[in-house]
Amino acid sequence: MNADLGVRPDPPEPGRRLDPAERGARPDPPKPDPSKPAHPKPDPPKTAHPKPDARFDLPEPDAFTRTYWDAAAEGRLLLRRCGACGRAHHYPREFCPYCWSEDVTWEEASGRATLYTWSVVHRNDLPPFGERVPYVAAVVDLAEGPRMSTELVEEGEPRAGLELRVAFREGVPVFRSA
Ligand SMILES: [Zn+2]
Repeated sequence: MNADLGVRPDPPEPGRRLDPAERGARPDPPKPDPSKPAHPKPDPPKTAHPKPDARFDLPEPDAFTRTYWDAAAEGRLLLRRCGACGRAHHYPREFCPYCWSEDVTWEEASGRATLYTWSVVHRNDLPPFGERVPYVAAVVDLAEGPRMSTELVEEGEPRAGLELRVAFREGVPVFRSA
């Protein structure tokens, strides 16, 4: 019988990684309990299905974002620009995400952008998206620099670099080819 059996190895030196042999064998995974089904059914969802007239595509402005959504309702796309480092950002934040300055103000964007990437959505159970499928969820590069998640409302085939211009659907900015 091995005299070392049951004796713990010396603790590792501080800052030294154990190699796998030193860590010892992993414990065996728990054995399946034959009295339980291998794939139990998930619990039913705790919330009921959303009401058919509920809207998951419209903003819920708060005190800070109301300026942005009020402008969008008038067909203007706003950005935030930092007075300290000069960079614009989107989504709107109360301080600059690049230099943390709070010297950040609203400015109107040109509305010009290029298509960075996209995904064609074929299924979305949240109303009213189910009535819109397939639709194109897109990420666009605004002319001012920020990258923005949006929807491409365009009949043609998307392609990277496509020149776009902002449009508004019920006060929500979307993009179509320029
Ligand atoms: Zn800044």
